[in-house]
Amino acid sequence: TLSDRLTQALANLRGKGRLSAADVDSTVREIRRALLEADVNLEVVKQFTGTVRERAMEASLSQALNPAQQVVQIVNEELVAILGGQQRRLEFAKRPPTIIMLAGLQGAGKTTLAGKLAKWLAKDGHTPLLVACDLQRPNAVTQLQVVGEQAGAQVYAPEPGNGVGNPVRVAKDSIKFAQDKQFDVVIVDTAGRLGVDADMMKQAADIRKAIDPDEVLFVIDSMIGQDAVATAKAFQDGVDFTGVVLSKLDGDARGGAALSVASVTGRPIIFSSTGEGLDDFEPFYPDRMASRILDLGDILTLIEQAQSAFDEDQAREMAEKFATDSFTLDDFLKQMQQLRNMGSIKKMIGMLPGAKGMREQLDNFDEREIVRTEAIIQSMTKAERVNPKLLNGSRRLRIARGSGMTVTDVNQLVQRFDQAAKMMKTVAKGGVPQVPGMGPI
Ligand code: GDP
Repeated sequence: TLSDRLTQALANLRGKGRLSAADVDSTVREIRRALLEADVNLEVVKQFTGTVRERAMEASLSQALNPAQQVVQIVNEELVAILGGQQRRLEFAKRPPTIIMLAGLQGAGKTTLAGKLAKWLAKDGHTPLLVACDLQRPNAVTQLQVVGEQAGAQVYAPEPGNGVGNPVRVAKDSIKFAQDKQFDVVIVDTAGRLGVDADMMKQAADIRKAIDPDEVLFVIDSMIGQDAVATAKAFQDGVDFTGVVLSKLDGDARGGAALSVASVTGRPIIFSSTGEGLDDFEPFYPDRMASRILDLGDILTLIEQAQSAFDEDQAREMAEKFATDSFTLDDFLKQMQQLRNMGSIKKMIGMLPGAKGMREQLDNFDEREIVRTEAIIQSMTKAERVNPKLLNGSRRLRIARGSGMTVTDVNQLVQRFDQAAKMMKTVAKGGVPQVPGMGPI
């Protein structure tokens, strides 16, 4: 996925003390490839990588201490920028009703969106009216009625013999109806075609002219890949719109549409749809989307912090001990104490949207554990620390008394030590790195 590819590209910078121009170039090349593979529009890719490259070069010249992190930051900021920067909220008319018109290809998700919007607005105290102006597709009116019922919103549709076949008239009449009946938002669903089509555009443009909407939302299926840009441009030329809705973001969309459309049309993405249910819908936040794309796999940042907290020589020494079975309770204590050096890590992880699992693990990690471990191990004799097998019942009792803990505490510590030693031995043989008490990091 795009996420994986970007994280990979950035991970290659790991451990670099400073960045050379060549490092920047190869990273930018990887990012470029990742974006193109995700169907991001070529122009957008060029612009994006150009800016990232320029800024990364500056960062490399500034001799920053942590260039990799800086580049991650730059990429994140530029992703937010091409996704539109600030969140753009729906705009309401000063005098109700607020008129929202939906436009887009057939199957883009307009009718579903109408229901989602209605439900979302109703929850916020609004009284939305759904208007069926898709009079082309045989089932469109019925579909809107079903969706309206699910959303608990009234649907305005032409009476048989009255306005059938004339969506402009239906749209116009519906506004008057909304004013009379005091609906405060009118959501107008329009007809789409399978492809861009002059008649459809004209009809949508005519409806727009007739009802002068406060918002025209262009709904686009995120899965249409490279076609996204051409379709969006055609709708911009033919009808024009004030905002974009990305639908089907739950599918295996590669992210191309999301990253291209706002940038190419200069129109903000206002909502995203993530499923067929009426609740699978949310306002669009460029920063959150960027974080999702990057999986703020600041796992990278994390790794770097962890690397600097654990002294490399010590780590090598430990690895040898694990491998040769000479890992002692003293070593165990030393390791626990190193965790303290990572003190700020918890806070840092708190800021990373991508690292949820890791955050939970850290939350479960009790820092007082280190203090207790210290007390117990320091109450042991040197011989006991080197050879925990010596720890029989009476020795454990003595240690418990000496450290102000219970025998159970001592037993648990010894057990954890055994587990850690076993775990670390696996690691030394090439397994996944683990930190005692924390699981994989
Ligand atoms: P319209 O022709 O633009 O009105 O599109 P519809 O609202 O009829 O949607 C077309 C199909 O896409 C329907 O089967 C919807 O259930 C489905 N759909 C709409 N939005 C989403 C979404 O966000 N995710 C998924 N997975 N399916 C969606």
